[in-house]
Amino acid sequence: MTKIPLDSLSELASRVRGTVEFDEALARYTTYRIGGAAAALVAPQSTEDVVAVLQFCNDAAIPWLALGLGSNVLISDAGFDGVVIRLGKGMDWVDEDVDGPEVWQVGAGMPTPRLARVTARAGLSGIHRLIGVPGTVGGGVVMNAGAHRQDFSQTVRSIERVDSDCTVRTVPTDEISWRYRSSGIDRAIVTAVTFGFEPADPRVLERDIQRHYEWRRQGTPFDEPCCGSVFRNPEGRQRRSAGQLIDAAGLKGFQVGGAQVSDRHANYIVNRGTATASNVKAVIEAVRERVLAEFGIELQLEVRIIE
Ligand SMILES: Cc1cc2nc3c(=O)[nH]c(=O)nc-3n(C[C@H](O)[C@H](O)[C@H](O)COP(=O)(O)OP(=O)(O)OC[C@H]3O[C@@H](n4cnc5c(N)ncnc54)[C@H](O)[C@@H]3O)c2cc1C
Repeated sequence: MTKIPLDSLSELASRVRGTVEFDEALARYTTYRIGGAAAALVAPQSTEDVVAVLQFCNDAAIPWLALGLGSNVLISDAGFDGVVIRLGKGMDWVDEDVDGPEVWQVGAGMPTPRLARVTARAGLSGIHRLIGVPGTVGGGVVMNAGAHRQDFSQTVRSIERVDSDCTVRTVPTDEISWRYRSSGIDRAIVTAVTFGFEPADPRVLERDIQRHYEWRRQGTPFDEPCCGSVFRNPEGRQRRSAGQLIDAAGLKGFQVGGAQVSDRHANYIVNRGTATASNVKAVIEAVRERVLAEFGIELQLEVRIIE
């Protein structure tokens, strides 16, 4: 049970159009299938809904957390004592041709693989290689998710965001602090994203998708609960990826409770079925210590730990 009294949350349902669940287990909403309960989980249906939830949280001094498809988070076993604002269905709209056929505006709840697929079919290149990145467009922007030399920073023209003071702003891409797997966006909710794509032959894009999808199928444990890469690849002069370092440290298969360094891709820590957040954190700490001891490299987390 969360500590926030239900009475202080009951008004929330009358403020938004979307559904509101109370004391809701978050494991259902993460690809790790891990996470305790949230005091409330709201599925907003519009930017106005997002503003209303934030206003409610500000007025009642209740913490809030934005969530997409939960594919890059490790939520603690104790859950989140606040309101989770989950952008998904209802905010997964697409507006094609907002400024010519190559410029689309998309709701932040749109799954990235779906956008990859529909843009490729429409003969638009720029995001199709993210076919295997199982998050939302909003989460993808926040993480600057990428794969196979494509990332969000390359195609985003602007975003619509709601700041923690409830102001709705359109922010052009050159005002976003894009870096490797980071956008610098914090304490704001991305509600919509405008992309500028490049025209391309749909058959060429489809072949490109197939090639990258096959690589993913063979090289990653995409069928086991996980969050993708746990650590960022080291930058600078280090040429080895985080996965190569972990593999070289002999940690493939290393396990604590139900959490295990994948045999297929050493930068993935998978949930073998019974893992808790504490198990995953214990594996993370052991991996960090061993890689530091063996190679003098401090691995940085890509996954966001929510406590
Ligand atoms: C099998 C697998 C493979 C993966 N492969 C890749 C890969 O190749 N490349 C890659 O980059 N990533 C990869 N990932 C990680 C993940 O899919 C991406 O980071 C994804 O973009 C996260 O989106 P999400 O909607 O799931 O975000 P979440 O996990 O829900 O959230 C991630 C962070 O963003 C915040 N957030 C989410 N939505 C919003 C919003 N609308 N506004 C403000 N903040 C928000 C959350 O608070 C959290 O801090 C993989 C994950 C899995 C499970």
